[in-house]
Amino acid sequence: MKISIGVYICHCGSNIAGTIDVRQVRESISTAPNVVVARDCQFMCSDPGQALIKQDIREKELNRVIVAACSPLMHERTFQQTCESAGLNRYLFQMANIREHCSWVHEDRVAATNKAKAIINAAVRRVGYQQQLETKTIPINPATLIVGGGIAGIQAALEIAASGSEVYLVEREPTIGGKMALFDKTFPTLDCAACILTPKMVNVGQNPNIHLMSYSEIADVSGSLGNFKVNVTRKPRFIDEDKCNGCGICYNRCPAVRIPRKRALTLDGQVLREVSLAASRKEEVYSHE
Ligand SMILES: Cc1cc2nc3c(=O)[nH]c(=O)nc-3n(C[C@H](O)[C@H](O)[C@H](O)COP(=O)(O)OP(=O)(O)OC[C@H]3O[C@@H](n4cnc5c(N)ncnc54)[C@H](O)[C@@H]3O)c2cc1C
Ligand code: SF4
Ligand code: SF4
Repeated sequence: MKISIGVYICHCGSNIAGTIDVRQVRESISTAPNVVVARDCQFMCSDPGQALIKQDIREKELNRVIVAACSPLMHERTFQQTCESAGLNRYLFQMANIREHCSWVHEDRVAATNKAKAIINAAVRRVGYQQQLETKTIPINPATLIVGGGIAGIQAALEIAASGSEVYLVEREPTIGGKMALFDKTFPTLDCAACILTPKMVNVGQNPNIHLMSYSEIADVSGSLGNFKVNVTRKPRFIDEDKCNGCGICYNRCPAVRIPRKRALTLDGQVLREVSLAASRKEEVYSHE
């Protein structure tokens, strides 16, 4: 099927037109391959702007549409819906960002105008390869895997769990807490780090929605969005976790160097040094070397 593209270039008041010569861009793009119509408009997202697109889709039988305007985050959906309401599949629409990526970040009018032409030309090339897609709804596994049990992972786990979803929190060290567990006070408020962190660590351990896998690492990830399969390697602790009450006697008395720890920090670039369990007992947890 012959590709017929409509290109619509937005002024966004002076947001775009203040820096880019929109008329010159339109004239240049109107001769690009497969472009059937190129128009410019003060505000493409306005009702008259959208009506222009719908009218051209119907009258000129466009099968691809490009809007050169703001970020897709702002209005991609708007224009996808515009296309759909005129009978064009939403995935045959492409947005070219000549505002955030061009007019807002340049002062030189000539250079910005040339860049806008290049951005829209790239969209013209791309849109020809786009295909009609249908949206399907499939069941997904809503459980979340979080890798890393520092303060960020802990907080994320607690919030997701509070929303009712299951969380798998994988931490490669024997305990969660991350860097924050090493500090006395936190800048800038000089709050006690442990006072903030430890209640959260306890909540993680007690929350029925959170499956904590400490001393574990991701071995393999397969699958796709909503249907991932993850293999987690759990390292041996050499104790019965169900019976252990955390009294710490084995930690203090065990002569074996079994569990490597990363608990010593140096200030030169904050390099973490790996030290043995036996050695770390004699060291300061946080050393100023
Ligand atoms: C010396 C120092 C002083 C600081 N002082 C302050 C301060 O005063 N105030 C302040 O606001 N911030 C401070 N920060 C910054 C603050 O500590 C960090 O921004 C914060 O702790 C980062 O939290 P996080 O959870 O993102 O990462 P981390 O605390 O680093 O946690 C990451 C966790 O992920 C685990 N992990 C990593 N890779 C894997 C993997 N592949 N599989 C499984 N687990 C993995 C790690 O073992 C770790 O437990 C300081 C940082 C440093 C280094
Ligand atoms: S489509 Fe985007 S760039 Fe154009 S007027 Fe609306 S907000 Fe501004
Ligand atoms: S000695 Fe204490 S900390 Fe060590 S395994 Fe036994 S119960 Fe757990």
